[in-house]
Amino acid sequence: MTTVNQTKPAWAIGNFLRVRDSHLYIDGVSAIELAGKFGTPLFVFSEPRIQHNIARLKKAAAVIDCPLKICYAAKANSNMAILRVVRDAGGDLEVNSGGELYKALKIGFRPEQIIFNGTSKTREELSAAISAGIYAIQADSLYEIKIIEETARRLKKSANVSLRLVPEIETETLHGLQTALLTSKFGMMPEEAFSVLERWQDSEFVNFCGIHLHLGSQNPSAAPYIEAFKTLFENLLRIFETTGKKLSHINLGGGFPVNYLRDTSNVANFSPSQIDYFSASIEPSDVLRQAWRIVKNAAQSMNANHLLENLTLLLEPGRSIISDAGIILTTVHNKKTRPVDTPQSKIQNSESKIEKDVWLLTDAGYNIMLSMETYKWYYHLISASRAGLPHETPYKIAGPLCDGGDVYFDIEGANRLPDYRLLPANVKPDEILALLNVGAYSLAQMFPYNGRPLPAAVLIRDSGAAEIIRRRDSYETLIESDVW
Ligand code: PLP
Repeated sequence: MTTVNQTKPAWAIGNFLRVRDSHLYIDGVSAIELAGKFGTPLFVFSEPRIQHNIARLKKAAAVIDCPLKICYAAKANSNMAILRVVRDAGGDLEVNSGGELYKALKIGFRPEQIIFNGTSKTREELSAAISAGIYAIQADSLYEIKIIEETARRLKKSANVSLRLVPEIETETLHGLQTALLTSKFGMMPEEAFSVLERWQDSEFVNFCGIHLHLGSQNPSAAPYIEAFKTLFENLLRIFETTGKKLSHINLGGGFPVNYLRDTSNVANFSPSQIDYFSASIEPSDVLRQAWRIVKNAAQSMNANHLLENLTLLLEPGRSIISDAGIILTTVHNKKTRPVDTPQSKIQNSESKIEKDVWLLTDAGYNIMLSMETYKWYYHLISASRAGLPHETPYKIAGPLCDGGDVYFDIEGANRLPDYRLLPANVKPDEILALLNVGAYSLAQMFPYNGRPLPAAVLIRDSGAAEIIRRRDSYETLIESDVW
């Protein structure tokens, strides 16, 4: 008989994620019962965890001397029930399209709680945002300001506009996730922002109210945030000095990291920099405390304290609110063994004494966790059925798609690690596995490749009730937009 490992696994988090009777429990609800009741693949979200993550960010308000607005980045996950949890927890909202704006208003965010980002906003989207009177449209270019002004003039309304700056601040995140570099597609250079203000600030149809920048996602260190905060203040000052305009908010964007490697047992062939990156953990309160102190001192020495009075600070966190609140439950549907035949795996396997590869084929492909493909993201995998047993047996894991790249490991230099996932010995078909930290940029980006109906999602409420928040698609859903 296998002995049950009584020690608390490194991935466990209080009552939210824990082992009971060797099964995974999420907020006190058995993952195995959820999989049985709702089928797999299944997204499971935790209301208490979302509330906890928002409360953690809101705590940062105590370390600065101005109001703080936490505008949850809806792009990370804009399921309506999730938006409602965010709203009820006191979050505001960042949207990136007319569709997200529609959802935001529909779920009851007030216009003054909403900001709107985007590089290619249409006239219709701008029109909807201006008509609603949202807190700020974050203008991405000089050209867009012109369209905003024309649209607002036509609507005979004043548009609240914040200027998105791209000040060339590098972070240690993945290149594709950097957004404050001149080589990125976002925002305008500070010089352009000044010319915008000079050109349009007297327009009765544009109310310039803020400046914004977003460094990128999963930024592993505090330094770029501090630099960004200083940059925002310098631009605030320069705008005041050159145009006399006092802006009412600065927006430091999102990007606070999530620790995807609470459990490091799987990372034998990660590089040290990959470990640093995926296990990044910075405390927003610590970052803001430091940044605020520096800016306050600067303001004092420049006689510019008045610019910090009546100022509001905005943040746009997505990942740090929803990522660890989401889990995918997936079933093993197939198992096979293969000789260890590639030169690379021969070397690795002779070291780790693997004689043959054991493959497990799940029902969770990259079509429901796209970052695994686009950014080679790492999501920790455990057995939900036998969460309490030692996870020491290596398996090659793959999803169900017809694409050879739909695997959870590296194929020919794809830089996706690790090569093997560690699970209990003797995993069999029908065992339920769980992918952790998948709440951000997964459900929001999924697509029904290979005619796979998209999965259901369940939310575990404060009360412990498991409620369906997204129905599983059906074969009918797959064809409902086709015309033939
Ligand atoms: N704000 C903007 C403009 C973004 O592009 C993003 C995502 O990249 C976010 C906020 C949210 O970032 P994160 O989910 O890393 O907090």
